[in-house]
Amino acid sequence: MKPKITPIRLRLVVLVIGLFSLISFLAFFFQMRTLQLDIERTRQSRNISSVRIVELFVELSYPGDWEVAGSELLKGGARLPAGEEVVGSLSAYLRSDSEVRFVAGSPPLGIALRLPLSPPELGAEGRAFPIGRPPPTEGRAASRADRPFATARGAGVAVRDAAGEIAGWIELRAGDAESGPKGDRLGRAIFFAFAGFNLLIVAALGFLVFLLSKPIDRIAEAHALEAARSAELASISCTDHLTGLKNRRGIEALLAGGAAEGEAPSHVAILDLDHFKQINDRLGHEEGDRVLAALGELIPASVRRTDECCRWGGEEFVMLFRGESDAGAAGSAERVRAAIEAHRFGSGGFPVTATIGLAPIGEGGFAAALAAADEALYRGKREGRNRVVLAEAAG
Ligand code: GH3
Ligand code: MG
Ligand code: MG
Repeated sequence: MKPKITPIRLRLVVLVIGLFSLISFLAFFFQMRTLQLDIERTRQSRNISSVRIVELFVELSYPGDWEVAGSELLKGGARLPAGEEVVGSLSAYLRSDSEVRFVAGSPPLGIALRLPLSPPELGAEGRAFPIGRPPPTEGRAASRADRPFATARGAGVAVRDAAGEIAGWIELRAGDAESGPKGDRLGRAIFFAFAGFNLLIVAALGFLVFLLSKPIDRIAEAHALEAARSAELASISCTDHLTGLKNRRGIEALLAGGAAEGEAPSHVAILDLDHFKQINDRLGHEEGDRVLAALGELIPASVRRTDECCRWGGEEFVMLFRGESDAGAAGSAERVRAAIEAHRFGSGGFPVTATIGLAPIGEGGFAAALAAADEALYRGKREGRNRVVLAEAAG
């Protein structure tokens, strides 16, 4: 069966995709920010390993001139480890033929160190400290301060003073740092790769939700069918099959529902066919049924559209008139009576008459009014039938 895009599935797909997109956008946004920083750092580190001239930037808490004493650089109490030692420990970040120059200090130290140097054993210790941050000078972490670390612009190593305390740090920076476009291009490429990947995921997710939501669809369909069926059943149970009019339950449901549409009825009339038993006896029950079926059309055609009529049972019909005075309601009932009297029924075209009892619906409600109308009806029967009789007093 061809998959259908039903409103409920569409809503589900849109909801899931929307939620996922929102979450992935936020995650992507933060990821990109972190990534951008990482790219920048990677670029700087790469620069160091790809350029030949590297500047050695010295950041110490002892400003002033440095002296060269044997294999060490000295200033105040600070002892810069032997140049070769420093560069050696940082050479994982360097090209083997790099030339390293000290540029900090006043005046510049002007010491040039030539590589190759023996490569240090950096291994897992290569990045002992968070990128871009100088080593801690206190606490347990200070003991790891001598390991080289990556900085925002290159690589660094701690410097200790004569007392062995960390006096600062030195940093290897690219002397001829490459400009940004390469990194920008990389950033853009990563951005589009991420965006494309996210789009793919969203599409796949949407499709998956669409496929998996089929049972929901079936449930919704079954539910709709069930609702339609029960509405049909309710309608059938409130309809008289012979006349097509509402039955007693139908009119009771209508009254219980606050008369549904329109204002509450003002009068109730009960109509009973005269000598109907004789019609059955003389012409047969089926002919009697046809008379009742004909009344199913004749009665509604004789009242206003806002009035209600139902087959109350047997050969009795109940009518509800709306917004009528006693005289107006009696006029309506009289129209029904006259229409029946004038009509010719069955193949033989025989006449049928009806007696109608009528009562206003007062404070006693429908039941009391119906009882009063019934009384009026029987009075009408006693007085000779084929007439409309208004109840004398209705509760
Ligand atoms: P009255 O003028 O006093 O009302 O006389 P009546 O013969 O109409 O009254 P009665 O109550 O004696 O008889 C009613 C008859 O209606 C009896 C019954 O056979 C007939 N009847 C009731 N329901 C149906 C029906 O569904 N179809 C047919 N053909 N006849 C029905
Ligand atoms: Mg009767
Ligand atoms: Mg009768």
